[in-house]
Amino acid sequence: MPLPPAFSWYQSRLWGGRVLALVGLLALGGVLWGLVQAYQSREEHTRHQIERELHTVNYLQTQSLLDWREQRLIDASTLADDSMFAQSASQWLQVPGATVLTLRIQERLRIFQERAKYTAVYLLDAQGRLWLTPHGDTNGRLPAPEMQALQEALAQAIVTVVEPRRDDFFAFPFLSVIVPLFEGTEPVGAVWLVSDVRTNLYTKLQTWPTPRETAESTLFSRHGDEVRALSPLRHDTNGKSVFQLSQMPPDDPVVQAMAGARGVLYGHDYRGRAVMAMASAVPDSPWIMVSKIDVAEAFADTQLREILALSLPVSLLLLLAGLVFAYVQRRAWRRERELKTQLQRNMRWLEGAQKAASVGYFAFDLDQKQFLMSSMANEIFGMSHTGVLSLQEWMSAIPEEDCQRVLTIHRDAMAQRTPLRTQYRIQRMDNQALRWVEVWGEYEVEVEQDRVARMIGTIQDITERKQSEQELTNYRTALEEKVRLDPMTQIPNRRALDEHVVLEWHRAMRNHTPLSLLMIDVDHFKAYNDHYGHVAGDECLRQVAAAIAACASRAGELAARYGGEEFSVLLPDTDVEQAQQSAERIRAAVEALAMEHADSSVAGCVTVSIGTTSIQPVFTPTPALDVCTEPDTVPQAAQTLFEQADAALYQAKQQGRNRVVAYASTVAQAD
Ligand code: GH3
Ligand code: MG
Ligand code: MG
Repeated sequence: MPLPPAFSWYQSRLWGGRVLALVGLLALGGVLWGLVQAYQSREEHTRHQIERELHTVNYLQTQSLLDWREQRLIDASTLADDSMFAQSASQWLQVPGATVLTLRIQERLRIFQERAKYTAVYLLDAQGRLWLTPHGDTNGRLPAPEMQALQEALAQAIVTVVEPRRDDFFAFPFLSVIVPLFEGTEPVGAVWLVSDVRTNLYTKLQTWPTPRETAESTLFSRHGDEVRALSPLRHDTNGKSVFQLSQMPPDDPVVQAMAGARGVLYGHDYRGRAVMAMASAVPDSPWIMVSKIDVAEAFADTQLREILALSLPVSLLLLLAGLVFAYVQRRAWRRERELKTQLQRNMRWLEGAQKAASVGYFAFDLDQKQFLMSSMANEIFGMSHTGVLSLQEWMSAIPEEDCQRVLTIHRDAMAQRTPLRTQYRIQRMDNQALRWVEVWGEYEVEVEQDRVARMIGTIQDITERKQSEQELTNYRTALEEKVRLDPMTQIPNRRALDEHVVLEWHRAMRNHTPLSLLMIDVDHFKAYNDHYGHVAGDECLRQVAAAIAACASRAGELAARYGGEEFSVLLPDTDVEQAQQSAERIRAAVEALAMEHADSSVAGCVTVSIGTTSIQPVFTPTPALDVCTEPDTVPQAAQTLFEQADAALYQAKQQGRNRVVAYASTVAQAD
């Protein structure tokens, strides 16, 4: 069934809307993809920036450490090159305790310490025994690493350095420089320069170009399974400086660095926080500089900037998408409202049309055995409740005598799955009035289960139509009777006679029974008219007709006015003798009327002459053809009846009137 134009339009718009929505979604997806790409590339850029920053910081701090150590060596060299001081130290060490010399040496050491900013300075002999500090006497021996450095310094006559470390000798981590002293080529002792790395080095490690909450650089060195941190860890409140490698998380950048990794490293630090780090080895030392920063902080600023930068286009995009969505929704809503209005209007029209035509519709659910009725269908049944009519209610509305027939019609239609069209009576539920209804129905078949699921149809109150039809039938019957009735005498006319002759002719032919016909003519009727007038003549004819009709009362017999003052009587299953007798009864009955006829030559009253004939109809193929073609016209063979009866009547007239003459003998005599 083609869709109504409004629905087709709606369908096409619906598709248009869908395509638009799809394009919009694709565009949105594309823009979001672009934004994600832009975000990712920005993030990559940021990552490189931070890696560069880490690299730079790490490099600068390493350089700073190297510069500082270099400076220590240069300072130490000035002391090593001071031959006067070496000579004094030699003399003093030969005779320790010489006061003047002591003061001079202490002065020299103090000046040097202040200028070069050493934490401690010691004069020691070639065996590593400590003798003097700038502030007084001392004793003790060099720690082992310094001892080794002393031997190297004296052996090679060079300033040696012991890399920063922690040692029980001092409470702080320190760097040692051993300055050898020679008198000529003779080693006399050395000066041990001690630099507290907390004041001299830590500040360099803590210098970061931009203020960072989590950034830190630390020097680590490995000793077997141990990792030692030179500088304290920035976020370690325990102040722990020695760690077990095996107990550290494997992705800790320090662990990775200890395993030989250099450059940018990612992992989790001692706090378990995700960090990015830079590891590099400090040249000519066991130290590895690890600079790191929390990933969260490193990206936080950039992410904030990115988010702010992205949020604007995203917000705009979302706003745009929202506007488009709202627009599309509004259009769809308006269209839906329009369609609803149209639908309601169409429903009103449908209801009106149903009311005007007294047609309701229904759907009968075979599973639930109930009818869903339209309001007009409700009204036809006179239902007080609306909507649903149970099968029981429907059956009780059908008069008992019709119920079986109606059920059979429904059952047959359902079994054959043919459209149902039937009429039956119902008894309205409200006022019990009997109404005729016409039901048209179609069965809906569920293809999968091959069964009838429901019947959908219309029901129309046709009571008025039925009444009209009945009236029309009555009228037609009356009319047809009238057409076959002679208006004056009120007995059948010639037309009725002809039809009856055809009928009885064929019946006689089938049953092999004789068929007789009487032709009756009023004697001297012209004279009667002339004498008594036409009105009296008519009355006379009426009485004669009634008398004749009264004599033809047997089933199948028919008395008719043949025309004028002539009458005919058809007598089925009647032979010559019986016909003769019937005719005689008629003649006598007319005579018995005793209607005065002054001008009759026969008697003083009205009389009739009657010619009779009797035929046994026989089937003859050729003439019977016209029986088939014109069923209402008198067959040729049947015409013989009239001819013979007429001839007999003629004979009756000839023989003096007021008598009955049978055809066979009469004709034979005449011939
Ligand atoms: P016969 O005995 O030979 O039959 O003589 P008849 O006068 O009856 O016959 P005829 O044929 O000469 O006359 C018939 C008359 O019947 C003529 C006509 O005026 C009259 N007639 C025919 N139909 C009617 C009718 O409907 N009413 C009246 N009043 N007269 C009729
Ligand atoms: Mg006549
Ligand atoms: Mg006559």
